[in-house]
Amino acid sequence: MATIEDELERARAAQLEELSSFLRIQSISTLSSQQAEMRNAAAWLVDKLQRAGFKNAEVLETGGHPLVFASFHVGDDAPTILMYGHYDVQPVDPLELWTTPPFEPKIRDQKLYARGASDDKGPVFLHILALETLIRRGELRVNVKLCIEGEEECGSTNLPTFLEKNAERLRADVLLISDTTMVGPMQPGICYGLRGLCALQVDLKTANSDLHSGLYGGAVPNALHAMVELLASLHHPDGRVAVDGFYDEVVDLTMDERAALAELPHDDEAYRKALGLTALFGEAGYTTIERSTARPTLEINGLYGGFQGEGTKTVIPHEAHAKITCRLVNQQTPATIQEKVKKHLLEHAPIGATLTVTLQDTGNPYLGSFDAPAVELAKKSYEHAYGVQPYMTRMGGSIPIVEVFHRVLNIPVVLMGFSLMTENFHAPNEHFSLENFDRGIRALTHFYREAATALK
Ligand SMILES: [Zn+2]
Repeated sequence: MATIEDELERARAAQLEELSSFLRIQSISTLSSQQAEMRNAAAWLVDKLQRAGFKNAEVLETGGHPLVFASFHVGDDAPTILMYGHYDVQPVDPLELWTTPPFEPKIRDQKLYARGASDDKGPVFLHILALETLIRRGELRVNVKLCIEGEEECGSTNLPTFLEKNAERLRADVLLISDTTMVGPMQPGICYGLRGLCALQVDLKTANSDLHSGLYGGAVPNALHAMVELLASLHHPDGRVAVDGFYDEVVDLTMDERAALAELPHDDEAYRKALGLTALFGEAGYTTIERSTARPTLEINGLYGGFQGEGTKTVIPHEAHAKITCRLVNQQTPATIQEKVKKHLLEHAPIGATLTVTLQDTGNPYLGSFDAPAVELAKKSYEHAYGVQPYMTRMGGSIPIVEVFHRVLNIPVVLMGFSLMTENFHAPNEHFSLENFDRGIRALTHFYREAATALK
């Protein structure tokens, strides 16, 4: 039998052509005008999956854009891998900034240009190719389930309900997702933590109306003074958040984690310069990478009140407003952190100030395993395809769906990305590196093939 390597070599042109036909479908989930194209993309996937060996691939209704589900069962004793991805893409405007039209895939400089090439049709297609190769060769010895949704770019509105309703059908030992970025070219990375989010609006009031500073100045409270005093109480001078109990649910980074994060390519001085800063600042005792990805934060995002016009107005403002968000880690939940921050604000309200604190958007943090067997297998798979050890990373932002999967299915999640930060996803001239197309199939083929023993 030909080696996998030979097979992939031979099939490459046809595979790229096939991916291009997927990329030609204008599956922009946010545009109601693209409903038919959304259905076309789902149908395209079902057809491709059936030809790849997933006999029962089907379109499932969610109440919004449909989801594609397929499974390949080899035996009840074999481990089961669930793969999640999405077939919807971002809008394409401004169209004039595209060098070639977004839905006419073109290869230039070893990159495939098209909307969705890197986020997430390209990476999804790599999984299908890897699985197709193994099924054809009779080398797939794990159960595989694929869940490819059509609403990722519009908030995955219907996915949580779908997951809850179909938890049994989706049951698996590990969830594999390729929708994150690598650290850089030839620098693969496994992301094992995402921060959560909670937001609050603070409205502060003193008098009935603004007052003249010549008539009342010195005798009455000033809403802006009160607000800045209140907000200043939220941090210690060394950058730590001063809210009581804020860090209670935060687990210290292990030595292994700190060592792994310290490996990441990063230079404080270059980082500072690139941002035009005169100094970096953050929680004492932590590095920049730790502060921005693995530690919780409280940030004031907006502050307004008083006179904003040209010149001077001698006024004592009677209202002030602030917007605050916290990034959360580990076991911190939006609900408890919001309560703690709210309590701090109410307790620290300066004399004469009445406060209203409104709780807003929330998202739970996610922390996966640093060394689960599936993570070890992902590391080996990257090594197999790239010849280098992948970095272990955490992301400062959120991918809400990862936390939902993790919570509903309660299984390890492996975020194994093949896209690059520089590939313009969500922007004009999105592209996918052919280097990662080639190595990505090899890494995933390795992952799915070796999973039978590695995840036993
Ligand atoms: Zn995506």
